[in-house]
Amino acid sequence: HARQACNYAKSTGRDKIYIYNSEDLIVKERRRDIYWVPLIRKALRDNQLFLVFQPVVQLSDGNVSHYEALLRMRGEGNEIITPDQFIPVAERTGLIHAIDLWVVENAIDFLAALPTYMSYISLAVNLSSTAFQYPDLLSTIKDKLEMTWIDANRLTFEITETAAVDNFEKTRHMINKIRALGCKFALDDFGAGFCSFNYLKTFPVDYVKIDGQFIRNLLDNETDQILVKSMVEIASKLGKKTIAEFVESAGTAMKLKEIGVNFGQGYAFGKPQQNLLEGHKVSLGLMLGSNQAATLIT
Ligand code: C2E
Ligand code: MG
Ligand code: MG
Ligand code: MG
Repeated sequence: HARQACNYAKSTGRDKIYIYNSEDLIVKERRRDIYWVPLIRKALRDNQLFLVFQPVVQLSDGNVSHYEALLRMRGEGNEIITPDQFIPVAERTGLIHAIDLWVVENAIDFLAALPTYMSYISLAVNLSSTAFQYPDLLSTIKDKLEMTWIDANRLTFEITETAAVDNFEKTRHMINKIRALGCKFALDDFGAGFCSFNYLKTFPVDYVKIDGQFIRNLLDNETDQILVKSMVEIASKLGKKTIAEFVESAGTAMKLKEIGVNFGQGYAFGKPQQNLLEGHKVSLGLMLGSNQAATLIT
């Protein structure tokens, strides 16, 4: 129940206190599921899911390294629904498997549809923690890459700490098979969960994404600075690159650069959007390399 409660608390949004009460929790989850399941099914059937893209910027020079693909769902009234609202439901009800495969196929299709002069662009894609339990994830990635002639190293898969703890070995095995294709991996929301170090130790990843909670108030919070510095030191000693999420100001970007974080992602560089070119231009305007960030971001 503890994990369920934790997931539920997260699904209600950040920065809120959730008082644990198991009966209350189950009733609320059921009600949520009953409401969302037909909507998710319909979105999958009627092609109402889509991806938006947020730039990940190299802090040494301000260049875009790659983009993270983030899932969106179009609602009945044409409103845009964010994954926090429907991913937890999909995870509880098994619909997540169809979503994971949809995201993989559509991310690769997106790369395949880019004009040739943009073929240097690569994507990071989020996978649910249960994605690795299904044997067809590997074949889906493999077949789609072969069909589209997309280079496997243009795909990074982001995994979070919620992965079923009892299936560590199976997950690691699957990750290694996908890595053998040439794809990369990132540990998402690092530091936010209970067993970050265990994950770091178990899963072979290329990137560590430092959770936004340590980045948001970095400039005013000395504890956050100490923690981020330590995470960078550990990651780099293990041969992994670091990415900071929730970089919301130029000042934060400069501080992260000073600390030695490799990449930044957040509203300071660009919000997630459907049009990749726009985000690209915003980020290219940011010349971190010349220490001009503060004056260039408005
Ligand atoms: P995440 O992978 O950690 O993605 C980062 C989230 O932070 C995104 O929210 C992004 O829009 C938001 N964000 C980016 N920069 C900033 C910033 O500067 N400030 C603030 N306050 N927020 C920022 P989003 O798109 O709502 O996604 C939420 C979570 O849903 C993701 O967290 C990821 O865990 C999950 N998710 C997103 N797309 C997918 C997907 O295709 N499949 C699966 N399984 N999960 C997904
Ligand atoms: Mg992510
Ligand atoms: Mg994250
Ligand atoms: Mg997150």
